Amino acid sequence: MSMRIILLGSPGAGKGTQAKFITERYGIPQISTGDMLRAAVKNDTPLGRLAKQVMEKGQLVSDDIITALVKERIQQTDCRQGFLFDGYPRTLPQAEAIRAESIPIDAVIEIAVDDEEIIKRLSGRQREDDNESTVRKRLQVYHEQTKPLQHYYAEWAATGDPMAPCYAKIDGQGSVTQIRDRLFTVLDNLPRRNLS
Ligand code: AMP
Repeated sequence: MSMRIILLGSPGAGKGTQAKFITERYGIPQISTGDMLRAAVKNDTPLGRLAKQVMEKGQLVSDDIITALVKERIQQTDCRQGFLFDGYPRTLPQAEAIRAESIPIDAVIEIAVDDEEIIKRLSGRQREDDNESTVRKRLQVYHEQTKPLQHYYAEWAATGDPMAPCYAKIDGQGSVTQIRDRLFTVLDNLPRRNLS
């Protein structure tokens, strides 16, 4: 039985932390486009050189590059039982690309956290792209480009289209284990569909 999941939520909402719990419980790999880009930067690849400047400014790497990166990643054998997308899709064109490629997604789960709380959390984190101006820019980019995905997936789920992923929103405030348990409850009770 496969499980293909998209985690939505603003930067600092806890997607990365929660992704680890989900991948362990369901035996699927975490696909974090942010981690893939940071690895490319570290290895100083052509992609890394390009991504570095974009990431430092808190902007988004182009949809075409990201989509190509993800398409290649999900061909790998560890993705046969599914995967968890963390930080992808980030824009409507990325979501449209997943749909156009007929990549079946079982569930889209939004981890909801207020902006005020996000700013508090991110200013305490020690990542290179976490200085205050980058944090603000990333939040602005999130509101403009990523937040519309909530509506996109909620609307699609409401149409009753059998290809539409289930859509759920969970409260991302509370302890790490409380949030983990909210996610597990949603995922353990997903209606199983014949997508694979
Ligand atoms: P993250 O670790 O997911 O917060 O990503 C860090 C940075 O990598 C983002 O601020 C973007 O510059 C870039 N990035 C990660 N994922 C994507 C994506 N799906 N589309 C475009 N840019 C991305």
